Amino acid sequence: MRKPIIAGNWKMNKTASEAKAFAEAVKNNIPSNTQVDSVIGSPALFLQELMASSKGTELKIAAQNCYSENAGAFTGETSPAALADLGVQYVIIGHSERREYFHESDADINKKAHAIFANGMTPIFCCGETLETYEAGQTAEWIENQITAGLVGLSNEQVASMVIAYEPIWAIGTGKSADATIADEICGVVRNTVAKLYGKEVSDRVRIQYGGSVKPENIAEYMAKENVDGALVGGASLEPASFLALLEGV
Ligand code: PGA
Repeated sequence: MRKPIIAGNWKMNKTASEAKAFAEAVKNNIPSNTQVDSVIGSPALFLQELMASSKGTELKIAAQNCYSENAGAFTGETSPAALADLGVQYVIIGHSERREYFHESDADINKKAHAIFANGMTPIFCCGETLETYEAGQTAEWIENQITAGLVGLSNEQVASMVIAYEPIWAIGTGKSADATIADEICGVVRNTVAKLYGKEVSDRVRIQYGGSVKPENIAEYMAKENVDGALVGGASLEPASFLALLEGV
């Protein structure tokens, strides 16, 4: 049985005081982590504050990115070793916004995945296609390629323990979610790709999220699907009441 995982992705929103107020508002109302993993992906600036505010609670904290080296002359980057030292458990990598605006390649993302595991954290690895690719009927092939390239060299155990988020780019922040049937179908493509590369035991364990305009009103439809183990949520994770409602929808 795969434990559901709901992760908020705040993107470049909030200030430190707003992040703290959010954690204070939700931290005592998070469901038990035997039922669901409840994660907030915060800008790096607020991670230390969030680690302190959420200490001893069921709320888990993710970074939204990191570099692939632990230290050195990489001005402006965030070290995975420094994230691990803070107690951060998850790092989102390969989000379509990072691939598009910051030109991250599959190879860059793969290096980050290795660095995150080397530091004892868990990647939330994003994949997803553009509207053009979707309309051309090439989604499955696109997703297979992103996964094959992004996970190169990881061990079976590492892949089994990670989280993969399927996020169609045409559904992110657009209010146009892929309906639950499409989400289930493409999350199934993700699972089959993992099965082909790493075997069925690994693909039965890896957790796969759907992301793209998920909100409290539609989360239950996605969670009812066999291949969907959770959600990566942008806009609807920003307000405490909405984030808590997502967790209740699992
Ligand atoms: P959204 O963003 O929920 O606002 O569509 C999802 C994401 O980009 O992770």
